[in-house]
Amino acid sequence: MTRAFDTNQTVGEYRVEDFLGAGGMGEVYRAVHSKIGRVAAVKVLTAQAAQGSGFVERFFNEARIQASLQHPNVATLYDFCEVQGQPCIIMEYVDGETISERIAAFGAPLPLSETVYVFEKVCEAIDYVHRHGVIHRDIKSNNIKISSEGKVKLLDFGIAKGQGTQQLTQVGSVIGTLQYLAPELIRGGAADAGGDVWALGVLLYEMVTGRVPFDADTVGDLCDRIGRGQYTPPAQLNPSVPREVAAVIGHCLRKNPQERYRTAAELLADARKLSAAVPKPGVSPTVSEAASEYAEAKAGRSFPLPFVLAGAAAVVVVLVLIGGGALLFLSTGGDDTLGGGAAVSADPSNTARGLAAKPSPAASHDAAERVVDIAVTDGKADVYLGAEKVGTTPFSVHGKLGERVQLTLRREGYADEPVDFVVGEKKAFMYALTKR
Ligand code: ADP
Ligand code: MG
Repeated sequence: MTRAFDTNQTVGEYRVEDFLGAGGMGEVYRAVHSKIGRVAAVKVLTAQAAQGSGFVERFFNEARIQASLQHPNVATLYDFCEVQGQPCIIMEYVDGETISERIAAFGAPLPLSETVYVFEKVCEAIDYVHRHGVIHRDIKSNNIKISSEGKVKLLDFGIAKGQGTQQLTQVGSVIGTLQYLAPELIRGGAADAGGDVWALGVLLYEMVTGRVPFDADTVGDLCDRIGRGQYTPPAQLNPSVPREVAAVIGHCLRKNPQERYRTAAELLADARKLSAAVPKPGVSPTVSEAASEYAEAKAGRSFPLPFVLAGAAAVVVVLVLIGGGALLFLSTGGDDTLGGGAAVSADPSNTARGLAAKPSPAASHDAAERVVDIAVTDGKADVYLGAEKVGTTPFSVHGKLGERVQLTLRREGYADEPVDFVVGEKKAFMYALTKR
């Protein structure tokens, strides 16, 4: 199939660089502004699609709706133009992966911390969109992208319904992706906020289990299943799904729309509670890092950024703190013995969720990268970052040379022991707690 644009072709002030993908109505390209260098995504309604009934209007509808929205979690529309009679939407380019790509690459449910962070952002976007009189109608894991900076962006308003566009977008008999459609919509009901709430429940389920709650080999069977509203409880597929998350899913996936969250705002309030309750790195910059976090979580050793526990073999050498007094150095081991794990920045300023500038595991051999182990002389202590428990000793901090680490060691009956060091040549610190 020939593409609408070639590389280097101009679209308005933009020069096409790369083909990104094709959707139901058109093709999407990455392009760069010839004068100011801004990178954009150009979505063009292909000539073929333009012949389909209602598609041109639907495309204009998409552009108008997107133009009316301005939100950090919604891809921003920059411009609209026509090239050789083909209408084009020029919008914010979002790099990274869609949620469905992330789940596929990951081969498992996403880490809980990422899930609740992303879900909260998507709910914020939908709450905003609804308050502006727009129903999205196509919320699904491949219409949401997570940028390499951990930003969450809702894409694709191709079948969104705005005020005054009641009939116009009814192209085809079923609107939306079947797996995400609410029972009342399958029966032909009008799209409203309840349908988006349902789709958000499907999305959350998919993130915590790796699969959608309703699926079947035939459309008929799928419609039956959705119509009955019965699905495998998420905890049956992933025993580590917290009850609170399952409850939010259940509240979205009520067959009767009256029993669901009545508004996206109500759902957002619960999504915020979930994300406040989960220790979080937010989004790992790469799937492999999300995978290492997931493995940690499965082993019951999960704690928030910026700290990741190293392998058991790690502790080589020790710096001893005696009775809250002097530090005693023992010698340090070879440099490479402690590398290898997922590297994490130990700069406390990087604890800002979702955006920790975490180097990739491949970069962990970087000369500036260090692992520092923390242990106590007799038994264990809990490790706190501020008020939040992040683990138990032995505990490893991965950080960059020169970064300051501040933690507190706590044990019942003992005085709190502050940990405060700058990542340097020392491989390990051992502390002796003082009885109260
Ligand atoms: P579909 O209807 O299949 O979802 P879309 O038209 O939404 O197709 O998008 C086609 C492809 O282009 C998808 O891979 C999508 O991720 C990508 N895409 C769409 N919008 C953007 C954007 N703003 N930035 C980067 N990629 C985008
Ligand atoms: Mg899409």
